[in-house]
Amino acid sequence: FTTYDTCLVGYAAVDAICDYYTHLDRRPVKAEVEPGYLLAQLPGEAPQTGQPFPSIARDFQRLILPGITHWQHPSFFAYFPAISTFESMLGDLYAASVSNPGFNWVCSPACTELEQVVMDWMAKILGLHPSFHIGSGKGGGIISGTASEAAFTAAMAARERALRYLSDEKWSQKLVMYGSTQTHSIAAKAARLLGLRFRAVHVTAADGYALRGDALREAIEADVATDLVPFFVVATIGTTSTGAVDHIADIGQVLNSYPTAFLHVDAAWAGMAYALPEYRAKLRLDEVNTYAHSFCANAHKWGLVGFDYSLFYIRDRKDLTEALDVTPAFLRSKEGDSGIVIDYRNWQLALGRRFRNVKLWFVLRSYGVDGLQKHLRSGIHHCRKLADRIRSSKDFKLVAEPSLSLLVFRLQPQGYEGGEDDDLNRLNKTLHERLMARSDVFLTRTVIKTEEGEMTCIRFAMGGLKTTLECVNATWDVVEQEGAAVFAKDE
Ligand code: PLP
Repeated sequence: FTTYDTCLVGYAAVDAICDYYTHLDRRPVKAEVEPGYLLAQLPGEAPQTGQPFPSIARDFQRLILPGITHWQHPSFFAYFPAISTFESMLGDLYAASVSNPGFNWVCSPACTELEQVVMDWMAKILGLHPSFHIGSGKGGGIISGTASEAAFTAAMAARERALRYLSDEKWSQKLVMYGSTQTHSIAAKAARLLGLRFRAVHVTAADGYALRGDALREAIEADVATDLVPFFVVATIGTTSTGAVDHIADIGQVLNSYPTAFLHVDAAWAGMAYALPEYRAKLRLDEVNTYAHSFCANAHKWGLVGFDYSLFYIRDRKDLTEALDVTPAFLRSKEGDSGIVIDYRNWQLALGRRFRNVKLWFVLRSYGVDGLQKHLRSGIHHCRKLADRIRSSKDFKLVAEPSLSLLVFRLQPQGYEGGEDDDLNRLNKTLHERLMARSDVFLTRTVIKTEEGEMTCIRFAMGGLKTTLECVNATWDVVEQEGAAVFAKDE
C-alpha cells in the first residue's frame, strides 16, 4: 500500500516534533488565523486513493500548525496550563503503538496493573488518605479523561448510593446537587445530564469567593423543607475564576446530617499542589482526607502529563461498581469473576479506555517527585513576583489574593473606586479585547458574580513548563501598555 518506508517517516515525525517543541518560543502564542481559514484550504471529500505520508506530514506543518494556539508556549497564561512534557508525548506514542482498549484486566494485564501502580503512586505523592489507595482494598483511583467525566461519574455513583439508602425510586426526581456560584460548570452539567436540580450557593468577596458551610446549610434546609433530598455536593479546591478554596470541613460537617449526601472534591487545577507539603494545610488536605467521598485532580493541567489525564479517586469503590457494573456474558472473564483483578470498565461510563497510564509512569520516573515539586514551585514563585508588581501599580488591582500560580486582576485606575460599577467593567472588557487582538499574549477574562453584582476581571495563570520570570514580566509589560492606551482613550 505504501510507497515510502514507514520507519523513515516515523523518524522524520519525531524530528519534526522535537523541532517544534525546542523552538516553540519563536512562534506567537496565539494562532494568527481567521475563522474558516482551514475549511477554505481542505477538500470537501476524503481522497479516493491513499497519499504518500511525507506530503501529509508537510501539510501538517503548512496547514495545521498555523492554526494552533501553543499551549506549551512559555508565554501561555490563559485558562490554566495544560502542560505536556516530552516524556509524556513519548508515553502517548508508545501507548498508541500497542493501542488497545484495556477495559478488562484480561484485555491487557499491563494496562490495568500499571494504572493501579501509578494511581497509588500519585495518591501517595498528593498525600491522599490511604483509604483512597487501591492497595487499601476498599477505595482506589482510576484515570478519567477529564474532571467533567470524573464529576459526572461521581454524581452517578452518588445518585445510586442515595437511592439505595432511600430504597424507593419515587425519590429519584427529588434529588438535588449543590455547588457554589464559583463551581465549574461541570457540576451544573452533571445535574443536567442526570435530569436533576443543581443549586449554586452564593459566595462573597469577604469570604474570598469560597463556599462556606453555613451558606450551604441554609440552601439545603430550604430544599429539605420542600421535600427535596440533598445527594451530591461539588466542593472546589482552587476555583477556576480566582483559585478559591471551599471550606471542606464545614461543608463535610453539614453533610454529616444527611446520610444521602456524597461530597466530591474538584481540585482539577490546584490538586497537583498537594505534592508540595508546605501547601497542604492551606489547601485543606486534612479536611479532604476526612470528608471527601471522591476527589479529582487533573494531571493534564499543572502536572506535566499531556491531555487527557484526570486522577479520579473514590473512598469506596463499591459506590462506582454498584452504579456502573453491567456485565453481559461476553464481557465476563475468569479473573474478573474471581474478584482478584480490577476490570476498570466497571468504574467508568465507557467500556473501552485508552492506555493512558504510560505517560504518567514515564513522567514520574523521568522527573521524580523532586522534579514535579520544582516545577510546581516555579509557577508559584512567578505568581508571587507578578503579584508584587501589581500591588505596586497605581492602575491595576488584584481582585483576590493570588492563589498558587493564579492571579486575577483588573484595571482600576486611581479615581475609579467601588469595584463593580459598569464603567470599570467596560474598561476591563476593552482591555481584554485589546489583548485578544494580539497574538503575543493570551489571557482569559472572567466575570465574578456575587450577590452585590458582577465584576469583569482578567486572569493570569502561570505554571507553564518553559515559562520564565522574563516571559511573565514581558507579558505584564504588554498589559500595562494596553491598559494605558485604554485609559487614555477613555479620558
Ligand atoms: N474544575 C475546575 C476547577 C477547572 O478549573 C476546570 C477547568 O479548567 C474543570 C473542572 C474542567 O476540567 P476538565 O476539562 O478536565 O473537565
